[in-house]
Amino acid sequence: MSQWVINGIRRGIQTTAYPAKPETAAGVSPGLPLGGAYPLEQMNSLMARCPTRVFSARDGQLVVDERHCIHCYRCMHGANQPVNWRQDYEWGTIRDGQGEFGRPFEKSIHICVMDAGDCGACLNEVRQLNNPYYNMHRLGFFITPTPRHADVLLVVGAVTDHIKFTLQKVYEAMPTPKRVVAVGACALTGGVFADSFVCTKGVADVLPVDVEVPGNPAPPLAILHGLLVAVGRKAPWSPAVQAPPEKETPNESGHAAAASARTKA
Ligand code: SF4
Repeated sequence: MSQWVINGIRRGIQTTAYPAKPETAAGVSPGLPLGGAYPLEQMNSLMARCPTRVFSARDGQLVVDERHCIHCYRCMHGANQPVNWRQDYEWGTIRDGQGEFGRPFEKSIHICVMDAGDCGACLNEVRQLNNPYYNMHRLGFFITPTPRHADVLLVVGAVTDHIKFTLQKVYEAMPTPKRVVAVGACALTGGVFADSFVCTKGVADVLPVDVEVPGNPAPPLAILHGLLVAVGRKAPWSPAVQAPPEKETPNESGHAAAASARTKA
């Protein structure tokens, strides 16, 4: 018998038990900053240090819009006033607070993954969902290359101008019901590239996004949670102190169209 088979039998099942049980292994999540009550001086320092304006102050509390977090850790290191840090990974939230979706799909779920200008980081984390440790097949999740067979469109990347049309076509080709899951800071907000001369402010500029998974990149368990939220098998994360929703300003990149599509969906 091959040595790797013997090793496999000796070690037993290594696949995470999530979502049946919480995953407590070290390193499964890079964490996210945590809002709440902070001294005024510390709040001001955090707001000044964050390069992507994750922090704001409201009613004496630090508000965190984790969708903008690029995991640079400037708020954690190199300063004597670090932010509190959450180490969970259930980060999937429903965009625009639409409430829970119910369970629109039966049995297996097919996911079409679109690289809409990703640097490779979020895409690599999505790829991990197929490895033996995360093994999303055990949950009935499968990647499909064709939108005609897809229930969920998972998008990574800041949505460059060149991919906008293709992204819309892929979405239109999917049968209903369908869900859009945006993964990573770039897909959520455009990240550090937002509204530049080559890209949008994220997927919601182009498509009606249902579930958002923050992170830069989002870790595999957070993506798995987002997928479970999209199909109604897990509750979304709901922050104690939520950032106000971003204003939707119609612009040349089709933001207004996305807003009207969301209303129809
Ligand atoms: S890790 Fe970086 S981007 Fe994220 S909140 Fe901290 S300073 Fe801002």
